[in-house]
Amino acid sequence: MGEPLIAGNWKMFKTVGEAVDFVRELAYRVSGLHGVEMVVCPPFTALAAVSGLLRDLGAGIAVGAQNMYWENEGAYTGEVAPGMLKEIGCRYVILGHSERRQYFGETDVMVNKKVHAALAHDLMPIVCVGERLEERESGTTEAVVRKQVEGSLAGLSAVQAAKLVVAYEPVWAIGTGRTASASDAQQVNEFIRGLLRSLFGEVAAQAVRIQYGGSVKPGNAAELMAQPDIDGALVGGASLEVDSFTDIIKNAV
Ligand code: 13P
Repeated sequence: MGEPLIAGNWKMFKTVGEAVDFVRELAYRVSGLHGVEMVVCPPFTALAAVSGLLRDLGAGIAVGAQNMYWENEGAYTGEVAPGMLKEIGCRYVILGHSERRQYFGETDVMVNKKVHAALAHDLMPIVCVGERLEERESGTTEAVVRKQVEGSLAGLSAVQAAKLVVAYEPVWAIGTGRTASASDAQQVNEFIRGLLRSLFGEVAAQAVRIQYGGSVKPGNAAELMAQPDIDGALVGGASLEVDSFTDIIKNAV
């Protein structure tokens, strides 16, 4: 299924200076590498500088935001609009990350509005879904993921859906060092692919890239990426160090 999509979600880390230094080094380390699509998702403050630098370097590394609001503009203090992200060269936007759902009250309805707004502005949404530990232990993983996928993607056409990236990120694996086994991750990604097929048809389901996220490291990236329904990784902690992020990218090819 095409090239793996390896994205680094920096969360609330790195100043503008740190971000610029990081991507300059990353661009050097991955220059000439083929067969993988790379994305970095810095905090809002560093997006413009990182995007401009990567464009000037011709580095072949895309930029994504970690969130956005769904309105085009208006009196929404503290929010950032899709067109603003597009203007500074963002190609992707992470939507519905579990930290946004947990700490900032994002619901599937809100994520759904953001998905529609992103697509309307030609931004590619990376839609995050995943169960919490108690949900996995009580055997409700598929029900939880189904509700999130159906809710977040409601009202999309098959053509729109084909542009999506879905990231399966089990909450218990995020920042814990506890990765889902490759076969557990594959099983849920395959389930998500089946959901997409029933919602949008076979062509769209095959076009969607379904990532895995949660304690992805250089040592487990290759096995995860080898699974038939894992089309990439959304990397948190290990994307903050050039060494580990470069190794993950190289191991994914
Ligand atoms: P970690 O890789 O730090 O577990 O974070 C995963 C994540 O939340 C990426 O969005």
